[in-house]
Amino acid sequence: MFLTISTTGTPERPATDLGFLLHKHPESAQAFSTSYGTAHVLYPEASAERCTAALLLEVDSVALVRRSKGKGGQGKTADAALAQYVNDRPYAASSLLAVALSTVFSSALRGVCKARPERAEEPLALRVEVPALPARGGPDLVRKLFEPLGWTVGVESVALDEQFPEWGESRYVRLVLEGELRLAQALRHLYVLLPVLDDAKHYWVSADEVDKLLRAGEGWLAGHPEQRLITSRYLSRRWSLTRQAMQRLELVRLADADDTDVEEIDNAVDESTDTEEKPVPLAVRRREAILDALRASGAARVLDLGCGQGQLVQELLKDVRFTEIVGLDVSVRALTIAGRRLKLERMGERQASRVRLVQGSLAYTDKRLKGYDAAVLSEVIEHLDLPRLPALEYAVFGSARPRTVLVTTPNVEYNVRWETLPAGHVRHGDHRFEWTREEFRTWAERVAGRHGYDVRYVPVGPDDPEVGPPTQMAVFTVQETPKAAEKAEKAEKAEKEAAA
Ligand code: SAH
Repeated sequence: MFLTISTTGTPERPATDLGFLLHKHPESAQAFSTSYGTAHVLYPEASAERCTAALLLEVDSVALVRRSKGKGGQGKTADAALAQYVNDRPYAASSLLAVALSTVFSSALRGVCKARPERAEEPLALRVEVPALPARGGPDLVRKLFEPLGWTVGVESVALDEQFPEWGESRYVRLVLEGELRLAQALRHLYVLLPVLDDAKHYWVSADEVDKLLRAGEGWLAGHPEQRLITSRYLSRRWSLTRQAMQRLELVRLADADDTDVEEIDNAVDESTDTEEKPVPLAVRRREAILDALRASGAARVLDLGCGQGQLVQELLKDVRFTEIVGLDVSVRALTIAGRRLKLERMGERQASRVRLVQGSLAYTDKRLKGYDAAVLSEVIEHLDLPRLPALEYAVFGSARPRTVLVTTPNVEYNVRWETLPAGHVRHGDHRFEWTREEFRTWAERVAGRHGYDVRYVPVGPDDPEVGPPTQMAVFTVQETPKAAEKAEKAEKAEKEAAA
């Protein structure tokens, strides 16, 4: 098993810095024993202009079999037993090579380089070559996996036997990757994608593989077009682990799409107000409308779901009638900013006992959200992909089930009135959709009907006669179920009878 990594350089920035980055000196060949055999690192070339490091793994098939005994129930049939000893493992790059990579280049994988810290941070002109890579899915899949990561991919199938072309292709490819990438990033791509292509892990995949995958996938896996295939194959198609990893990647993606600029357009002034007065930003109007509706509902314990950077929580704290305020968001960064805005650390004990910020996703039911009077979803639903919306609906209206739910979202019809918004654009880059009044109402009626709520609508901002208001708000109130009403009536009757 064999893999080479090369880079080019100049006298000022010599290619031999690769040795520092890999923590392996170019002048000596080194050997490391791993659980499956010996890994050698050597440099076939090492000059200022060009430097190549080679990783060669000499697999000890017998050690491999011994180590995997009792794991994964191998060796049940005679064929399988023989396959343990006679197989392609010693020759092809695979999950074993990935393990060797992580053993031999562990610091480089983490991007740590004390001697040349600045070189570890910058992209290098890299060339990676793997002469024999088992690749289930062939050259097409190889391209689909590496190209979105910024690699130029050269991939050729290897014939089963060059003398007998009619035998067709083997399951191996020769892979050459070229690109300008940070070395750590390149190694992480290989560490994950080589075993994904091999699709046959040599060891039993346990729960901590999810952590390993997410660590190595940092910065590139969330949002990769083949994220599902990569995750599923990496975790040897163990469905429960794959689901766990996909959920965590979703959290990562959402946190990355963080909303630092969420208020950009919201702060655009609303020109229809009297010119004598200072114009009021839409975000302020929205909070006013929400506070009014909350007060009218009589709520004391309030959830701000998708609280972002905590502006509404801050307003809620100013009114003592709100005795318990919970801000939830999926983004740790938003919550950190919210905590700073609220000065949580310096808050007096009484004030602090009224407020909590918690991380969570509305795409999953959450016991912590049960038993509140009201929940606010201010400019949140449009940040979820439409197929995920039913999950949020269930988490809020089915599981948490507060008496009142306020949902605000942009009215897309109003977009023509924003002077700064090019036609056909949504108001924020992370908006997955924006609805007309009709679409919002259709959605709201369906949710209300399904979960036993009544719903009414409140315009927020100037209600344009043609296109409606910039923000639309739905106020959901839970219906007294006939059964609950009946029960209450019966109890009352019984009480009266007992008293008589
Ligand atoms: N409510 C605030 C912030 C709106 S921006 C306001 O009105 O200003 C949308 C917020 O929803 C972001 O902070 C985003 O991190 C959060 N969000 C998006 N998807 C979420 C999810 N699935 N679970 C929880 N929060 C989510």
